[in-house]
Amino acid sequence: MTEVDDRIPAEDAPRSPKGTYDVLPPDSARWEALIAAYAVLADRHGFGLAHTPMFEDARVFRRGIGEASEVVGKEMYEFEDRSGRRLALRPEGTAPIVRAFVQHRPPVPWRVWYVTPAFRYEQVQAGRYRQHHQLGAEVLGTEDPDVDVELIALAHDFYRQLGLTRVDLRVTSLGDTECRPSYLELLRSYLADHDGELCDEHAVSWSRNPLRVFDCKREPCLKVTADAPRLFDHLCEPCTVHFARVTAGLDSVGIAWSRDDRLVRGLDYYTRTTFEFTATALEGASNALGGGGRYDLLAEALGGPPTPGIGFGSGIERLLLTCDAEGVFPVPEQRADVFVVDVTGGETARDLVLRLRRAGLRAERAYDARSMKSQLKVADRSGAPVALIVGQAELEAGTVVVRDLVAGTQSEMPVAELLERATLTGQLAGGTP
Ligand code: AMP
Repeated sequence: MTEVDDRIPAEDAPRSPKGTYDVLPPDSARWEALIAAYAVLADRHGFGLAHTPMFEDARVFRRGIGEASEVVGKEMYEFEDRSGRRLALRPEGTAPIVRAFVQHRPPVPWRVWYVTPAFRYEQVQAGRYRQHHQLGAEVLGTEDPDVDVELIALAHDFYRQLGLTRVDLRVTSLGDTECRPSYLELLRSYLADHDGELCDEHAVSWSRNPLRVFDCKREPCLKVTADAPRLFDHLCEPCTVHFARVTAGLDSVGIAWSRDDRLVRGLDYYTRTTFEFTATALEGASNALGGGGRYDLLAEALGGPPTPGIGFGSGIERLLLTCDAEGVFPVPEQRADVFVVDVTGGETARDLVLRLRRAGLRAERAYDARSMKSQLKVADRSGAPVALIVGQAELEAGTVVVRDLVAGTQSEMPVAELLERATLTGQLAGGTP
């Protein structure tokens, strides 16, 4: 019997799917540092970490984000599992958090942060992927406008902490169930009068969600909406008061903002405060750094009790692209603290490296019993300031040669003393003994 060769030929080897990519060292260290910085800040702002599943009942997004939205209609990865359940990979972070809130009913205000991949079948281009990653935060259970200020401040301070300075904040109010329906009637009748003048896409779809026309960047829609009635001019008294309180708060804590009456954002769940941060250092189409807003009706839409909420999400890739564009938050330098060179066969290195790691040092070694010269080359590349060299004589004497790779000096030291020193100081660099 001949065996079937089912190896994939090299020229057809699988690659990461279109619109996705691998995050590998050394760049992954930057991701780690970014998330760690955000985690510290979120903790300081009183948020706890929430992890929810990567896929959900598709209704979480269909009802939550809205059937008429682009994200649901064109971009969601939706599928049936082997038992016929309708599921979707999460295209964003908010709806799953609200689903979890409705399911678990934690005490309010509930403040959680998250970091997650998000999946959207997008037209792939620079800064726009089919799997991107978001970090964000949500507060459920209060409609206090101070919370809006706090949340915007969290995002703002995070950008600042990364070193970003060229970030614009635009804010508006999308009204509530009091004022929005009558405004939508007004907008509908305006758009009906200009039906033939909209772009091809919105000529067909405007009646399902007329607000979305404001989001269109095509010339015909820009022209029609230039004189269209604005939601902001038709807010009810409580929405006006809420917005005034939020913006006064932003002024008071020193966060620059501007009002943008055209801001509608792509997800249908927003009410009242809505905001977006843009990176002026990035190109137009993909310069949205983060955004969010209130979603006071979302918990109800997902089968929960009426519960106001607000949140924001920010794309990790966009953040890093913006950091590149502004020349801040570089990939952290990663180097070993110490490199063990073992020319006796490797067993001493095996044990010593582990003991050094247990003492708190980032210790590295070479493998495959290479020559001393070749091991020292690897030591150089590791960036370690110190090499510990073990030859036959040292092995027998229970010592190591400590070579300062920067100064080029070296001396011999008993292994026990070396480990004691490593445990006490957490380092070996800073002069050989
Ligand atoms: P959204 O949920 O659409 O408000 O997106 C929140 C943030 O996620 C945006 O401001 C972007 O920073 C980022 N983002 C959204 N979609 C993508 C994508 N396809 N690729 C990369 N980043 C994205």
